[in-house]
Amino acid sequence: MLSNALPVAELHRHLDGSVRPSTIWALSKQHGISLPVTSENDLKHLAVIQHRTSDLLEFIQKLEYGVSVLADADACRRVAFESVEDAAREGIHYIEMRFSPYFMAKAFSLPMVSVVEAVLDGISAAASEFGIKVGALGILSRSYGVTACERELDAILTHRNKFCGIDLAGDEAGYPATLFVDLFKRARDAGMRATVHAGEAAGPQSIWDAVTLLGASRIGHGVAAIQDPRLMEYLAKHEIGIESCPTSNYQTGAMTDTKNHPLRDFLAAGMAVTLNTDDPGISDITLGHEYEIAANVIGLDKSALLKVQENALKQAFLSDDEKKALRLSLKK
Ligand SMILES: [Zn+2]
Repeated sequence: MLSNALPVAELHRHLDGSVRPSTIWALSKQHGISLPVTSENDLKHLAVIQHRTSDLLEFIQKLEYGVSVLADADACRRVAFESVEDAAREGIHYIEMRFSPYFMAKAFSLPMVSVVEAVLDGISAAASEFGIKVGALGILSRSYGVTACERELDAILTHRNKFCGIDLAGDEAGYPATLFVDLFKRARDAGMRATVHAGEAAGPQSIWDAVTLLGASRIGHGVAAIQDPRLMEYLAKHEIGIESCPTSNYQTGAMTDTKNHPLRDFLAAGMAVTLNTDDPGISDITLGHEYEIAANVIGLDKSALLKVQENALKQAFLSDDEKKALRLSLKK
């Protein structure tokens, strides 16, 4: 379903949602961390979503297994390295990998700056070994409140030049964008571009707020935009990218039925939709799988799929020169 004529890019993948179950198991043994299962196979059953969860918060709960074994900086480096390796093995040429320093640090109270450094190191080692281009996105985990997010931002800005942008993720309904205006201003003043999870577990107002209050130039999920034609028009007009993740949207309950996913309507409205996996470790999917779902379940035709693939290149947090180089690298 993915075209060979264009580079393959994914813009919405959580590093802390891409941890291999085999690595969770290995790290638990290495560090003597107890898990609520007695075999690797049982762990896979527990950590990977079997059908769907009741809501976003239960979905996020599944991410806890992966971060519960991050006992030191080496463990953080390992999961970063492997998640980039897995993306390269899927045939992806450019990936934006996002992670929350607080979420990865919390089980063992690791210093957030050392988590950031270990992850950036793992990403860059895997990028050169497997020939994939990677952009790092720093997540502010809204579920832990403004103070924790402020500390995350401090850690991220310590290595400002190694990040391509910033994100807001977590409990959208409980922690609205209005709480994070100052932090996003600080990030934007430091020259960071912003994407925000919005319209996944809350309504269209959350998307308006992400764009107008936080300065988001892309929206994670954005499914609720379908309820507001004026918002759809605005997003299309201002070329705000929509990072669609159909399997994740079904599993979190953002959509009750994948075949009615609004991405076809979004494309028809001229919105810059992209396709993404969100958390492939716990959803057990690949980017290719999401393109197949878009084609076979949602009903996108070949030209629509090509448009989506092209949108990912256009919406990437890269400079024009970097985008050009990415396209040229395919022709070599
Ligand atoms: Zn996400």
